[in-house]
Amino acid sequence: MFNQSSLPEPYPDEALSSWMYRVREILPEPEIRALSGISDHDRETSPLVAPYLKVLGGLGADLDFRFERPEILAFTQAYDLSLDWIKSVFSPASAKTIPISFRSDYCLQCMEESIAEVGFPVYLKSWRLLLKPFCQKHGCVLQSTNAYLYDSIDFGMDIFEHGCANPHELERESKWLAKDSEVKNLSRMVVNRIDFLLSQAEDAVVHDKVQNFVMTLLRITLMPKLWGNYSSIIKFTVQAGVDFESKKEIPMFYQLPLRVTGMVRARSFYLIGLLLGWIDEEQAGNARPRDDFYLATSASTLWRLVGNSTRIRTILQLYSTELLGVSMLADWECF
Ligand SMILES: [Zn+2]
Repeated sequence: MFNQSSLPEPYPDEALSSWMYRVREILPEPEIRALSGISDHDRETSPLVAPYLKVLGGLGADLDFRFERPEILAFTQAYDLSLDWIKSVFSPASAKTIPISFRSDYCLQCMEESIAEVGFPVYLKSWRLLLKPFCQKHGCVLQSTNAYLYDSIDFGMDIFEHGCANPHELERESKWLAKDSEVKNLSRMVVNRIDFLLSQAEDAVVHDKVQNFVMTLLRITLMPKLWGNYSSIIKFTVQAGVDFESKKEIPMFYQLPLRVTGMVRARSFYLIGLLLGWIDEEQAGNARPRDDFYLATSASTLWRLVGNSTRIRTILQLYSTELLGVSMLADWECF
């Protein structure tokens, strides 16, 4: 039937859900092939439809990274693939990923390049890395789709089609991104420096602590008290329902980094750079767009907004290591 060499090669950094979709488009399983030959009316009543949907399945399920999902196992069987091979190619490069229900980020340039190369807007797994709001290839901040497409079977194609159907939205986004380019450069420097520190961790415990220290800073910079710093950002959408909004401060504190867009996370890293003293006031002042009045340019301003919090101080102390810790925070004594 199928063998691996007849299937399209995974694109560099491609997510499993994207590759599964491409494989099925190019070499459909027998059920899918049978279905494509019948009329819309017959399809609705066909007994083949239910198993077909079951085969594609996974609406809302994480078909990028949850390799034990029944939909993925069915796929490996249908195409005679080993699960170990799937894991070795499609595992994420970092432990902190954005949950499937909040995925929204992408790089338009990457999509255009993959269309030119393989004829599909490929969806990349690195777009789901929580601590990497920049494109790994182009260095630009990831854009976000605000349509609720996350559980689409072919997310990449849907994002692309949505973008093509909404050119004004894309234009507005690229104008904003251009205006904010200096702040973004500083954010990218912070992201890279954190990445380097993580690579220096000598064991898993230290690595986790550094990661958690950064996560805590990310959460601090996303506290509602600091939202003035994001006033100029378009698409500061928090993906939330009534459930979430009615929750109190603590779940908000923990979940906001997962729910905001890539652009917002990129700005958080700029604020983290101030807190760590990696960006000084002069650099910050020069980078700030002229009309972005509420964007902080010093750590002391941020600490003042956070206010006195024993809880936050304790968490930061708990995750401190020689690589990254409270002693390195700028104006820590203000806090
Ligand atoms: Zn890119």
